[in-house]
Amino acid sequence: MERLQNFIDGGWRASSANDALKVLNPASATVLAEVPLSPATDVNAAVEVAERAFIEWRRTPVVDRIQPLFRLKTLLEQHREELALSITNECGKTLVESRAEILRAVENVETACAMPVLIQGTNCEDIARGIDEHMIRQPLGVVAAIVPFNFPGMIAFWFFPYAVAAGNCFLLKPSERVPITSQKLFELIQAAGFPPGVMQLVNGGRDAVNAILDHPGIKAVSFVGSTPTAKYIYSRAAANGKRAQCQGGAKNPVVVMPDADMEMTTRILADSAFGCAGQRCLAASVAVTVGSARSTFTDQIAAAAKSRKTGYGALPDVDMGPVISAESKARIEGLIAKGEQAGARVVVDGRGKKVEGYEDGYFVLPTVLDDVPPDSETARTEIFGPVLSLIHAQTIEEAIALVNGRSYGNMACIFTTDGANARRFRYEVQAGNVGINVGVAAPMSTFPFSGWGDSFFGDLHAQAHHAVEFFTQTKVVVERWPKEWSRKF
Ligand code: NAD
Repeated sequence: MERLQNFIDGGWRASSANDALKVLNPASATVLAEVPLSPATDVNAAVEVAERAFIEWRRTPVVDRIQPLFRLKTLLEQHREELALSITNECGKTLVESRAEILRAVENVETACAMPVLIQGTNCEDIARGIDEHMIRQPLGVVAAIVPFNFPGMIAFWFFPYAVAAGNCFLLKPSERVPITSQKLFELIQAAGFPPGVMQLVNGGRDAVNAILDHPGIKAVSFVGSTPTAKYIYSRAAANGKRAQCQGGAKNPVVVMPDADMEMTTRILADSAFGCAGQRCLAASVAVTVGSARSTFTDQIAAAAKSRKTGYGALPDVDMGPVISAESKARIEGLIAKGEQAGARVVVDGRGKKVEGYEDGYFVLPTVLDDVPPDSETARTEIFGPVLSLIHAQTIEEAIALVNGRSYGNMACIFTTDGANARRFRYEVQAGNVGINVGVAAPMSTFPFSGWGDSFFGDLHAQAHHAVEFFTQTKVVVERWPKEWSRKF
């Protein structure tokens, strides 16, 4: 069985770990590889090399620093199918979903290639008489990202293209549940020609994370994952004097107004709730119908849930793959049962089903729960599976109050043909990403990705100009050059 390696100083190195985990294909439970749980010594070695590389990398002109990114874009496009299959095999999503993931990764590389413009500072001549003031941006040093399992080929790209184009050196700690795609990405990163030490990969779990959080040489930490881990990482990074941006979990409500285009709404919401088996931080997980939308939407979404074909994501006719693990399947099925016990009606039940030919896979079929009590655990907890809970309101005021009465604030959406209600929703909802007749309101790479509330800890978000600000520190120079000092030639 292949044991994955770390990428340090421009080459592949065996981890010094004693412990390792098996990486499984969740559709079949077959073992794909073994991932080492690297100890602190591996992290320390990577940081030492990166600190040395930083001395020269920050002096490299920004127009030269983006050249490996241009090459990486081409390599990602050339290897898209291979990367997509790797994502499908270790994470479970369909090939269509995996390809889309790579597309967003490429987009972030493209945006970071604008660094010669993005990194520019500001200045003001004669801020006082004969005094000029300039604000310049400089890189931080060595920075690190810790990422989750659900987008193995994309989430690191919310950070590293910006970090390295801005002159930092970067360390990635992928999810130990899906480390194979990062291995392939780093083969491309190696081929793209970054100087040794600029890009580092350390596989592992908690020990590697804690070593990152405690290492004085790491100046900033980007995290994406569940809310409890985000809070932990945010506080430990801050206690160690680091910058941190920590994106957490979600429970995304979607309001369906009676005037919505029901055919379009159902199609889009079925994809939002059940796409990627509900394992997206922007998955719709609660639909709040208003007034007469209740009966039409309930019937149509139930039909859409039943018609979705579930199976191994690399097969051409499959709409939805498995969830990540046996524990995850048990947890999701437990939350469906809790919803039922709290009084919800199970309209479509995806529990306890087997997929022919993949009997050992971790499949939960699309599930629709009706009349879920808003205060129940099922309505408030992030399920992270293909489960849509329905709650019914009489007015838009009631619907907005339900949307705003939760602790998460990653995304909120409305489906309506009424512009005034859409505007009111956009204005009043407490969420960082808002969809209007859109079911997965994922910002393109030229905009920041902005969770609120318990979905985000920090201030500067991922992607675009927020990433540039996060990965640079500003220096303000105030200068005076009196005329009398001028030499005559
Ligand atoms: P997770 O929190 O279990 O793990 C994320 C990372 O943290 C992994 O690399 C893991 O090794 C590390 N980690 C986990 N527990 C740790 C601990 N106790 N100490 C130190 N490190 C630890 O998350 P996951 O299950 O991999 O991912 C799913 C979660 O990510 C969901 O909650 C989802 O909503 C969230 N997510 C959020 C966004 C967003 O943009 N807000 C995007 C994608 C996923």
